[in-house]
Parts: sequence; C-alpha cells; structure tokens
Amino acid sequence: MSKFIFENSGGICVGKTNDNVLNEMLYYGFSTRGGGVSGGSLASLNLGVNRPDKKENLIENYSRFCGKIGIDYKTVVLPKQIHSSKITEVTAEDCGKRLIYPSDLPDCDGLITKDCGVALGIFYADCTPVLLFDGKKRCLCLVHCGWRGTVCGFAFSAVETMVNDFGCHAVDIHAVIGPCIGKCHFEVGEEVKAEYDKARLSEYISEGNKPGKYFADLKGANREFLLRAGLKNENITVSEDCTYCNTDKYFSHRACGKDTGRMAVIAKIKR
Ligand SMILES: [Zn+2]
Repeated sequence: MSKFIFENSGGICVGKTNDNVLNEMLYYGFSTRGGGVSGGSLASLNLGVNRPDKKENLIENYSRFCGKIGIDYKTVVLPKQIHSSKITEVTAEDCGKRLIYPSDLPDCDGLITKDCGVALGIFYADCTPVLLFDGKKRCLCLVHCGWRGTVCGFAFSAVETMVNDFGCHAVDIHAVIGPCIGKCHFEVGEEVKAEYDKARLSEYISEGNKPGKYFADLKGANREFLLRAGLKNENITVSEDCTYCNTDKYFSHRACGKDTGRMAVIAKIKR
C-alpha cells in the first residue's frame, strides 16, 4: 500500500504519495497552509476562492503552489462547491474558470476529465478531498466530501460515474484520501450517528465524551465506500493527518473558525 508523503521546497509543503501510477501519469499535490501571501486568518497559502481574499493574493498563491507541482495555474478550473454529490465533466475549454474568469459551470462538488489540457481543483478546510485516477483509461476525478457527501456515498458514486460514463474499471482506479478532520476531533451529534448507521458505517463512529456525542471517521468511511465500489485496498492511499490537530500546517474550519482559509488538491493528467 502506498503512503501519503510530503515534499518541501522553497517554504511550500506539498502532500503527495509514493503511488507509482499516480506519480508517473499525473501532476498533482495536496496543499498546506505555509508559503503563501495571504494575511490574517487566511495566512498564508489560502487557495479558497470563496474566501474574502484579494484576487492578486489568490493568483499568487495558486501560481506558487501549482509551480511546485508542474502545473500552469492558468489551466486550473474550480467548481462552485455546494456540498452536493454532483460531478461535472470539464475540458481544456474550461481552463481558468472561477479562478481567473467567471464560471458558467453548474454548481457541483466533483470534477472529471480525460483531457490532459485542464487541471482540476477542489478546495476544503476540514472536509475530505478524494482524488481518483484510472491510469488505463487516463480518467481523472476529484471530489469534495463533507460529512453528508461522505455518508451518502459520494466517493462510491464518483467511481460509478467513472465506470458507467468513462469506461473505467474499478480495479484500475487509484485513490488518495487527503488530509481532513480526523476522528480524534470530528465530534458529531445523533443526526450524523443515525446517517452512519443507515449507511452501514457503524464501525466508523464511536462514543464521544458526552452523552449524545460521537466521534466520526470521515477517512475510514470514504475508504469503505471506495472498497464497496470495487477498488483494490492496495490502490487506496490515506493521509494520516487531522487538520484540527495541525493548525500550523492546515486550515481547519472547526479549529480556526469560519474565517479561516482553504487548502486545495490540484491535479492534471500528463501528456
Ligand atoms: Zn484531531
């Protein structure tokens, strides 16, 4: 099984894996919060275009981060994320949408492409980013799973989209579950517990510190859905980091408040 690793260069720490298929066929990286130009609660590598940040800061941050992973930031397309389970196909014609130009794409929480001319981006602060790539069909998909997206099986339906609409085979799909809030800190109530039980995810939620409170495992639940969708266990890489536990390294909505910045996962298929 591959490991989630980090590469440091010039003050920017990039989350990667040692998965050979991904490293040979993709430019990609999961961002952390250091090495950017944004100030205050967005300090410093804010990649959230939905934050009250200056456009020039966002462009500089994207330029720096994308430069580290071999991607021209002008090719990045970002969705307007709404905690849905919708996926939009994009092509090189969509480059720059939402970052440089206004976007006419439908609101969604997943992007998919077979086009090596466009870089996909998804941003998040405690939610779970999932990267999916079939190296045989050269099909790339990124999804943003909050707790609702997680329990309703967005990771599963993303694999279904790749298989049904893009000719992929689940056994050929390599996945990365990036840094997000860990079960050590994702305390939830009865509503979330009920959804976990309904989705047959009871083993991924445990008693909290108070009655009626529970600790939910987002990474474990997403991994479970990828396995149910037919991915091989050895093709799934999971970050061990909790964003809440590591606010020097990550923005965390729960730990830092609603005004905090956003990390992003950016990925592009190599030619
Ligand atoms: Zn934690």
